[in-house]
Amino acid sequence: MRIAQVSYHTNPVAPLGGRHTGGMNVYVHELSRELAGRGHQVDIFTRLDSEHSEVTVLAPGLRLVQLPAGPPVTLEKELLTPFLPDFVAEMIRFAAEQGEDYDLVHSHYWQAIAAGEPFAKEQGSPHLVMFHTLGEVKNRARISEEEPGERIRRERELAASADAIVSACAHEHDLLARYYDADPSRMVSIPCGVDTNLFRPRDQNECRRELGIEQGRPVLLWVGRLEKLKGVDILIDAVGQLEDPEVLLLVVGGDEHGQELRNELQNQAFAAGLERSVRFIGAVPHEELPAWYSAADVCVVPSYYESFGLVAVEAMACGTPVVASRVGGLVSTVTDGVNGYLIPWRCPEPFAEKLEVLIRNPELRANFTRAARDSVERFRWEEIARRMEDLYGDVITDYGNEVVT
Ligand code: UDP
Repeated sequence: MRIAQVSYHTNPVAPLGGRHTGGMNVYVHELSRELAGRGHQVDIFTRLDSEHSEVTVLAPGLRLVQLPAGPPVTLEKELLTPFLPDFVAEMIRFAAEQGEDYDLVHSHYWQAIAAGEPFAKEQGSPHLVMFHTLGEVKNRARISEEEPGERIRRERELAASADAIVSACAHEHDLLARYYDADPSRMVSIPCGVDTNLFRPRDQNECRRELGIEQGRPVLLWVGRLEKLKGVDILIDAVGQLEDPEVLLLVVGGDEHGQELRNELQNQAFAAGLERSVRFIGAVPHEELPAWYSAADVCVVPSYYESFGLVAVEAMACGTPVVASRVGGLVSTVTDGVNGYLIPWRCPEPFAEKLEVLIRNPELRANFTRAARDSVERFRWEEIARRMEDLYGDVITDYGNEVVT
């Protein structure tokens, strides 16, 4: 198959852990790599955000195509909507110049979906979409800035016109049906994948030595894009309630765009007398993360909302138990009392209570560790890409096109 992946507002191969570079980037890059490895021709279209060349070959059968739309600098995604028509025109120009005829267009996040729709029409191919996050759901979590009405209106229209919608978990599927009136017969749930070769258990002491983390201290880890929706404030308050003063919380992620929140969190930790207990590491390259997960005793995901939550799955792949909010996709990956705990309330006390249980019980932790690694087998990329490939085939056939092999 010849497949166009569209990721407009963020470059899937950009450094991770920034304000706009997280799970979706990993997902688009890894899925595309896996599909190319299975013999498909994949082009990833993204907006040019620096003075780069237009086309980069990432692997055999896989190209990154960066196209101009608006100024060639990083911009907040909210400012990028006006340049969508330019981006569509550029995709059409590129496909014509290269003589490309895509069998299917797969778009990620509402802005890319808005661009992918006219592009797919022009190509005469079906449009498969993934929202990744939904404006209405973010607003209902009531913690991030208010998502604009335009986003929600466009999401509703795009959900109605897409040929197929993939959601990462059954919960997102329900939300699309409930808040967006999306047609359940055009929706399919396929979870995100995890690279189980990269994310695998390593010796804790060795990892701590490598990373300069004290042996003997109970270590909690948070990883992600630094934004309010991630609930790091709750976690810092929870650390303040733990009995053992030796507990160390490592906060991994965040770039210059998240500096304001980082300052706020640092002040919060300082005011609570936790300057020795909370360490801000900044963003860590994806390939180096397995050592951080393995160095930790528990990975904590205190998000107000999480549409899938790759971090929890990566931690479990490294054998690290997870304490997570009972929200969104986390409910489909963490099994309460088996490989971690799910916390129904977004407040520090219940997090502190479960963290205390795990910190004090090395045997329980060891049981969770064993279960954690087993529980991620179903997220192996080989399996996820195979399911996506089958879906692409079905969507193309339903559309009335044929895949020439
Ligand atoms: N990540 C990373 N380095 C960092 C922080 C995050 O590689 O410093 C990656 C992390 O490994 C995960 C992704 O960013 O793959 C975050 O994905 P998740 O689904 O947890 O959150 P999202 O970004 O989708 O909100």
